[in-house]
This record gives sequence, structure tokens and C-alpha cells, in this order.
Amino acid sequence: MPTPEKTAATGDSPVRVVVIEDEPTITRAIADRLTAEGWEVSTALDGPSGVRMVAEVRPDVVVLDVMLPGFDGLEVCRRIQADEPVPVLMLTARDDETDMLVGLGVGADDYMTKPFSMRELVARLKALLRRVRRAGAPAPTEAEKQEALEFGDLVIDRAGRRVMRAGEPAHLTPTEFDLLLCLASAPGTVLTREQLLADVWDWVDATGTRTVDSHVKALRRKLGADLVRTVHGVGYALEIPEDPEAGAAASGPSSGTAPDLSSMATPNLSTGDS
Ligand code: CA
Repeated sequence: MPTPEKTAATGDSPVRVVVIEDEPTITRAIADRLTAEGWEVSTALDGPSGVRMVAEVRPDVVVLDVMLPGFDGLEVCRRIQADEPVPVLMLTARDDETDMLVGLGVGADDYMTKPFSMRELVARLKALLRRVRRAGAPAPTEAEKQEALEFGDLVIDRAGRRVMRAGEPAHLTPTEFDLLLCLASAPGTVLTREQLLADVWDWVDATGTRTVDSHVKALRRKLGADLVRTVHGVGYALEIPEDPEAGAAASGPSSGTAPDLSSMATPNLSTGDS
């Protein structure tokens, strides 16, 4: 009988994962551990064969090292994301490498710095798959399907998981979309990194706050630096942008949708501010 993890992304079939890492010891250790989880593991030892492997296997999730022969993990990530999004957990050599990668818009969903424990890797991958499953689930109500959240010139289509800013579509990764949605659930309210980590990443152990920072940077790059305010030492808040074409909307969210969501979500999300 399949475990919940096995069915996380693909119904009854086991989770398929491609591991792209050129250090055979690490590759084997990851493969052994994930195989023990009941997952179907494919491995590749360089960039080009990693891209081919992903095209062939169509995995549910990819574990991708940054430094690889052939071409590096950045190029692999761009190529495998070109057709359709696939969740990527990227392995980095240093903490500041994560910032650099997100700054470049690589599009990985999570990052882990070497060395890491296999236990942590499995936990992070499972969290990633839970988010993918949640993202792929149908909207809970018919009413929600119809509702687009509008904040000035920012429009978030929750059902279609699309975002427009000033009439231009923005191409967000699944994680970036979830982060934006989380911030938009309480516009103007500061959410701590730990809250965001728990809500967006399903990650209760607050060691991954740098991942939050990195994804906020990505959101700013794609949607405008003015959209997300940093409250130093606390966290982040969505700033409601002005809509130049609708003066009335500039003072707050339009169409009665967002205030409902805000009033519902704020009490929960704003507890536990540090
Ligand atoms: Ca490497």
C-alpha cells in the first residue's frame, strides 16, 4: 500500500526523482536514501545527461548540484524548466551562493547548502512535493475559482496560478506564487520569515530563512521592488501598489475579495511576531 509521500505528486505511482550530481559518493548516498523511501531514482553525473534524463523520466522532483561538468546546474535548471515547470531542489556549496542563484533567476524552489543530512534532504523534498500537490489541487470552492485578487495594478489569479503586474504577465515559479499568495493573504501586515517558511515551505524547523529571503528577492525582481517591504529583523509585508488606471483601487484591494481574505487570514498569520 502506497504511503502518502508516494502518492504526493502522481496518484498511485511512486515519486520519480532525478538526482544530478557529479560526486559519485553523494549521488549514491542520495539515491540509496530516496530508494529506501520507495521512490524511483534516476541519476546523472553531468549537466547534459541530466537534462536528457529529466526529459526521459519526467520526474516529480529534481535534486540538482550547482557545479557540474558539461554545463552547470544553472543551465540545467533553465533547460529543464523551459518546457514545463518541475520542482527543483538545488544543492549549493555556500550559503551566499543561494542568494546569487536566486538573484540570477535560476528558478529552483528550494536550496540546501552542503554538507547536509539525508534526513533533512528527505524532509525538504517531501515538503516540496506537498506544495506541488497542494498547488495542483482544484480550488476548494466554485466562488474562489472565479475570484482574482486585485491589489492596485497587481492581479493574482488563484485558480489559474497566474500573476499580472501593470497588465504584464509575470512568470513565477510555484514557490514564488505560493509566497506571493501568502503575503497577499494579509496585505500590509508583516509576516515573519518563520511564518512564511511554515506556510509556504511546510518547514517548521526555521533553519531555511535564507530561502525565504532569496525568494522575496526573486519576487521583487519579477514584480517590482516596491511590492514587498522588508521589516528588518522581523520579516516581509506585501505593499499594495497603486493602480494608475483606477484611482479608487489605489486606496485598497478592489472588488471586495481581498478584504474578506485579509480579515480572515490576518489573525492567524500575524500571531507569533518576533
Ligand atoms: Ca558538483
